[in-house]
Amino acid sequence: MNAPSRSHHVVVVGAGFGGLETVRCLAGAPVRITLVDQRNHHLFQPLLYQVATASLATSEIAWPVRHLLCRRKEVTTLLATVGGIDADARQVRLEDGGTLAYDTLVLATGARHAYFGHDEWEPFAPGLKTLEDATAIRRRILLAFEQAEREDDPRHREALLTFAIVGGGPTGVELAGTIAELARETLPGDFRRIDTRKARVVLIEAGPRILPGFTEELSAYAHAALARLGVDVQLGHAVRECSGEGVVYGDRALSAGVVLWAAGVQASPAARWLDAPADRAHRVKVAPDLSVPGHPDIFAIGDTATIDAWHGRPVPGIAPAAKQQGAHVAATIRRRLRGDSTVRPFRYRHAGSLATIGKRSAIIDFGRVRLRGRIAWWVWGIAHIYFLIGVRNRLAVALNWLWLYVSGDRSARLITQGRWKPK
Ligand SMILES: Cc1cc2nc3c(=O)[nH]c(=O)nc-3n(C[C@H](O)[C@H](O)[C@H](O)COP(=O)(O)OP(=O)(O)OC[C@H]3O[C@@H](n4cnc5c(N)ncnc54)[C@H](O)[C@@H]3O)c2cc1C
Repeated sequence: MNAPSRSHHVVVVGAGFGGLETVRCLAGAPVRITLVDQRNHHLFQPLLYQVATASLATSEIAWPVRHLLCRRKEVTTLLATVGGIDADARQVRLEDGGTLAYDTLVLATGARHAYFGHDEWEPFAPGLKTLEDATAIRRRILLAFEQAEREDDPRHREALLTFAIVGGGPTGVELAGTIAELARETLPGDFRRIDTRKARVVLIEAGPRILPGFTEELSAYAHAALARLGVDVQLGHAVRECSGEGVVYGDRALSAGVVLWAAGVQASPAARWLDAPADRAHRVKVAPDLSVPGHPDIFAIGDTATIDAWHGRPVPGIAPAAKQQGAHVAATIRRRLRGDSTVRPFRYRHAGSLATIGKRSAIIDFGRVRLRGRIAWWVWGIAHIYFLIGVRNRLAVALNWLWLYVSGDRSARLITQGRWKPK
């Protein structure tokens, strides 16, 4: 029997949740695949905040893409940044001047944090999206304690020990809860001149409550759990300015040594590359089968796309949604290769929403079943360990969490990216 022809070339841009799932679900299909990413690793973003707060090491939440796919001989992995698309010539343009021809193109290029038109705030209020972001934030947090230890002026010391987090979604809540625990449980014995338990953690949210994606009851529970950890939650105040001094929200100015941004996202430039219709966050408004309108051979999935396919509502920007879309596109490609051009609309199935508040509490909304507190934290922990890649990482993360749970110790308290220099 002849081996199936692999002349059809699928180019997948982005080795995040959506892109990797597309490649996984195309296993055995008569295609050649090229997977392009600007980074050499797949990143488990849901645990990034744990790297930023010194709980986990970078290699525990990221894996080299090339190695993940080494057994798939029909898949070529390329480290390159895509800078545009020539849809007429069916070519992807790489930023280094190269080009890649495709028969089918899948854009899974994700999103990045956005500053609502105030990009000048980024140096003062970094966001969390990449491993570099996480280690840079970890550096800022740990350096604030180091500088406070050497500061004689009490007012300046207080400012250094103030941590402001902008945005009360899951990432903001997770950062705030974990920084509070770091200051109150992990660090006190390490310092001689400062009492790290006096650090102030302020979570600033413009809306009327934190975690608006959850029910009011779970959101109120999370608010109370944060307050028990000592986090000061400020609701109903939009941030008006971020600077080297701190942050201005509503009519208040807060001097803060560290300001972190967890407030908004903006999609990759995929819509611009194709001059495709997009929403305010620059997400491509895709057709029901996730193809880009006017380009049946180009699909956009995950955080870089938007579609009202969750009982008429927009699909949320979360990992399971990106994975389901990757699987849907792979199934469409397979059908088309069999000569079946039926259009099957994508429908999102929501398994549940989860958020943690420190190392002892979480909230989970499975729809009919809602959990909170310790039991929810354990379910959250087991679910995240299950979704990590590889037995070694699962064991390493489980052991780290167990250690943290019983001892409060966070072992990744490393200040990297350069020696300390005065400002
Ligand atoms: C801090 C944080 C916490 C989160 N927590 C959760 C959570 O608890 N649960 C949950 O379900 N979701 C969570 N999310 C959201 C989830 O991570 C995203 O929804 C998911 O990663 C989207 O998958 P994606 O494939 O669309 O994009 P990504 O996973 O972001 O992948 C995009 C890939 O494209 C690559 N890329 C981008 N531009 C280019 C280019 N020009 N050329 C080449 N490569 C490019 C990137 O390097 C990246 O590898 C979180 C996100 C963040 C940032």
